[in-house]
Amino acid sequence: MNEQTSDKPPAYPIELTAPDIEPYRSGNTGIDYYTSFRSDKDGPHVLINAITHGNELCGAIALDHLFRNDVRPLCGTLTLGFANIAAYRAFDPADPTQSRFVDEDLNRVWDEATLLGTRQSVELTRARRIRSLIDSVDFLFDIHSMQHKTEPLMLAGPLQKGRALARAIGHPQYVVCDAGHAAGRRLRDYGGFGNEADPSNALLIECGQHWEERSADVAMESTMRFLLHFGMIDRAVAEPHLTADLPPQKVVEVTEAVTIATDKFAFAEDYRGLEVQPKAGTQIATDGDTPIVTPYDNCVLIMPSRRLRMGQTAVRLGRLVD
Ligand SMILES: [Zn+2]
Repeated sequence: MNEQTSDKPPAYPIELTAPDIEPYRSGNTGIDYYTSFRSDKDGPHVLINAITHGNELCGAIALDHLFRNDVRPLCGTLTLGFANIAAYRAFDPADPTQSRFVDEDLNRVWDEATLLGTRQSVELTRARRIRSLIDSVDFLFDIHSMQHKTEPLMLAGPLQKGRALARAIGHPQYVVCDAGHAAGRRLRDYGGFGNEADPSNALLIECGQHWEERSADVAMESTMRFLLHFGMIDRAVAEPHLTADLPPQKVVEVTEAVTIATDKFAFAEDYRGLEVQPKAGTQIATDGDTPIVTPYDNCVLIMPSRRLRMGQTAVRLGRLVD
């Protein structure tokens, strides 16, 4: 079964246009659609990565903007990359949920066993291709968007260093500290990014609903703030994209992921994400005959999925800690 064809129809209008990324195909890194700009001044290697999922347009729009405006690093190396080209090319505004990936999720393959294993897919071929470049990256910013129209989320991963970087960037308001998915490791948790002792670091941002106009603004602002943090651009370059008076951040620690165990999983309500369930024991879903209940008071629902397939994450549960 093609698990993408049975998705519910899109519930949101398409307000964004997928930019033409053909001008960025040849790049200069030996990997198509990856371009590096080097400064004469020492500094880190920063990668801004877009379209890890082919139907998530905001990252491509942000990178297109950086290219068109000749944004260059004041120090170190800035790489701009488009990851899942095959899926992005398949994007069809008439059927926009179809192009998340071609064969498998590119953001679930980033462990040694899978990368070095025998499994073949369009996405694994691409991951194996871009891996050598990823290995040279000090700081990764991976730009995504979500199925539901929810406040933007910075996914800081399970480590303190990720949380500290998300706080230092200061935007968006919600920081989610999470360990990822049972279905496979994310790029943001790959290699040194997933090791507290390693100086490299990574953030994944969910900029809002896949096709809402605001997601492109969030992608732009967060990218500018990421580059500012590492001293790679002047404030004047970033300024037009920055909102004033950022609200204090809220940190949610994900305590568990609800992984779907049967082919009959249903949510109790039409959750969109960031709902807070005041009482422990509140039923939020049924998986086969098993009720899924909240494990503690004031439980926050993070990114409920519309793709309710066995083995996949249905929703993550977290506590507001800050
Ligand atoms: Zn994504």
